[in-house]
Amino acid sequence: MQTQLPESLLDSPQGREADAILRRCVHCGFCNATCPTYQLLGEELDGPRGRIYLIKQLLEGEGDADTVRTHLDRCLTCRSCETTCPSGVKYSRLLDIGREQAERQGTRPWQQRVMRWGLRQLLPFPRRFALLLGLARVLRPLLPQSWATALPAVNKASVAGANIAVRHPRRVILLDGCVQSVAAPEINCAAARVLDHLGISVQRVTDGGCCGAVEQHLSAPQVAAQRMRRNIDAWWPLTEAGAEAIVSTASACGLQVKDYGHLLRDDPLYADKAQRISAQVKDIAELVADSPAPSSAGPRPRVAFHSPCTLQHGQRLGGVVEQILRDWGFELTPVADGHLCCGSAGAYSLLQPVLSDRLRADKLVALRRGSPQVIASANIGCLMHLRQGAESSLPVRHWVELLADCLPNK
Ligand code: SF4
Ligand code: SF4
Repeated sequence: MQTQLPESLLDSPQGREADAILRRCVHCGFCNATCPTYQLLGEELDGPRGRIYLIKQLLEGEGDADTVRTHLDRCLTCRSCETTCPSGVKYSRLLDIGREQAERQGTRPWQQRVMRWGLRQLLPFPRRFALLLGLARVLRPLLPQSWATALPAVNKASVAGANIAVRHPRRVILLDGCVQSVAAPEINCAAARVLDHLGISVQRVTDGGCCGAVEQHLSAPQVAAQRMRRNIDAWWPLTEAGAEAIVSTASACGLQVKDYGHLLRDDPLYADKAQRISAQVKDIAELVADSPAPSSAGPRPRVAFHSPCTLQHGQRLGGVVEQILRDWGFELTPVADGHLCCGSAGAYSLLQPVLSDRLRADKLVALRRGSPQVIASANIGCLMHLRQGAESSLPVRHWVELLADCLPNK
């Protein structure tokens, strides 16, 4: 694609990066075929090719920033288009730049600004989120049915409380996560048990925090960068002391930390450290896949696995969890259109509820088709979102919990 970005923009690292990405796009439109919003809405401007063109226009000083922002807001950032693109267009990088520009040049309605501000004040803070969750539980009878059923049960599980000693020479840092640490602490307990069984001890870092993905995707990249620096400072001593990896059980958080090296590349104090931290991050699937499955056989439920976009398109780990589950003796039911997003996509389900609900409904139809006994996934956002739409007789769990169920002395 030919570009004519102004010299002032081409003088900046961001402008040069956008220009290089735009020039890779040959406008073939293959990406539209696997884009969930293009499939739902059938509009060129709600598919990746159209969005790329909108961003190009905006960067070239044409186009209306508010219109561009509307179409970029509808994008799930699922990166399915990146997996499909034969030219290697890094759409998500361009999207970040386009969103920042649209935000700067346009005027977002105040209701949306308030909503986004509220989410940024809530989601990355476990104590605030726990308070809201507690309040919601009290008000459960007044909530819509789908919200009431999706509220996680009170669970006092914690990795610290599980009392699993750090006893192996192999050690990893296990990220707590923000929302997950409140809504589903049992996931990291299961992860610690599975890793312990595989000869790997977990260490926790209490003075880290949210990975920064919430702010990154809610138009506050500077706040996100502050979080990243703080996390690097918190993790650094443990990695220097021999922790072999930084492990996440939430694929969205893992992807964000894998991106630290890129996101902080222009920070003179943190660029090198960020690169090294990113190189050490692993989704828990990468560790489990490298270890032999236990030989003990026992009854296993039939599983429909939903691979989060952040796992399959972002981290390019599609098929890894599915193979682990098979190796551990689970039967996987077929799931059509597994490349499509479930509609959770961070705060998307709250900001674009109509599109999000349609995507979830389609996803649940695909997941149920093989009559599974349990749905499994790998990211807290997807788990909570799918639970909200699934009937109570069909549990939705993290896949690592299914492995933990197979271990002795549960
Ligand atoms: S598939 Fe790639 S090259 Fe083709 S239009 Fe989409 S982004 Fe551009
Ligand atoms: S990230 Fe997902 S929703 Fe956005 S353009 Fe690409 S495929 Fe479509």
